[in-house]
Amino acid sequence: MEYRRLGKTGLKVSALSYGAWVTFGQQIDDETAKALIKTAYDGGVTFFDNAEVYAAGQAERVMGKALADLGFARDSFCVSSKVYWGPTTSNTHPTTRGLSRKHVTEVCHAALKRLRVDYLDLYFCHRPDRETPIAETVAAMTDLIRQGKVLYWGTSEWTARDIALAHAAAREYGLYAPVVEQPQYNLFHRARVEVEYSRLYEDPGLGTTVWSPLASGLLSGKYLEGDPGDTRISMQGMEWLKERFEGEEFEQKCKIVAELGNLAGELGTTLPRLGLAWCLKNPNVSTAIMGASKVYQLEENLKAMNDVALLTDEVMARIDAVAGTRPEPEPLF
Ligand code: NDP
Repeated sequence: MEYRRLGKTGLKVSALSYGAWVTFGQQIDDETAKALIKTAYDGGVTFFDNAEVYAAGQAERVMGKALADLGFARDSFCVSSKVYWGPTTSNTHPTTRGLSRKHVTEVCHAALKRLRVDYLDLYFCHRPDRETPIAETVAAMTDLIRQGKVLYWGTSEWTARDIALAHAAAREYGLYAPVVEQPQYNLFHRARVEVEYSRLYEDPGLGTTVWSPLASGLLSGKYLEGDPGDTRISMQGMEWLKERFEGEEFEQKCKIVAELGNLAGELGTTLPRLGLAWCLKNPNVSTAIMGASKVYQLEENLKAMNDVALLTDEVMARIDAVAGTRPEPEPLF
């Protein structure tokens, strides 16, 4: 495992990390969740990602119990939570949604209990909230940091402009600024990480914990022969994702995945490993958060670390040619 600095902070995170979305408290039983955490930890993973909204808090409970049962030293791993939606993405209750001082504070307290920890290493604003002044959220995060309940805070899917505004508020009022962003990043989804945030990596020194590195499993290649039937797209409540795994655009993506599969074979690796290694090749990725519902998936994916060296400039150019997804750089003027 390689350990990378989270942006310009002093915190080092494993380049491959492990998250609980869809799986914990939903798709898999608690024993499997525990086995997955142990596999990840034994493979060098030190960062476990979670959120209030994952299985309405149950994902945090399952992760908290597993971490406690496994008895890992608290200083040997990092754990996160995220605030925005409340218990479900469809929640509209006025006081349990958004980034108000109240919701940010209450979700932190609840996450600490569910995860059975005294502090969150990372605490993310899961989306921007247009109805809360950014300075209010920055101040609430700063208070949690000063109280020792949170060590670093960040954003998820905020625009570069919103992140810059949070930094401006922090400078103006002497508060802690966000140090990390959690964006989607994979071979089919590149612009935000490669273009929009490009000016934030050097100054102020943004770190990234990227999500869905395998595009929800599409880049594992297992959908090439049709729906395998035992994956997340068959789960109740995941109909929206299943719809994305159908139709013309999906067929087009499958052709690309099939070609990438040939390239992976030529390089002596596998599609999931290639997809993850490709993310890690980007030095602005602090950590790629893996998802996995089965232990064999994690065991395979952890080997991706060794495959980064296979991705020479020539191989990267071939991947770009096959995928055709390289975004245009930002115009200079
Ligand atoms: P991926 O894109 O890597 O998808 C993971 C899924 O792909 C697995 O659960 C499994 O699905 C399948 N898979 C993984 N490896 C293999 C393999 N070797 N062979 C076959 N299938 C495989 O990541 P996720 O979409 O799960 O996202 C990762 C994490 O990112 C989440 O857990 C969460 O922590 C975070 N996240 C954050 C978001 C945000 O808004 N901030 C949004 C989404 C995720 P299956 O069970 O179907 O087999």
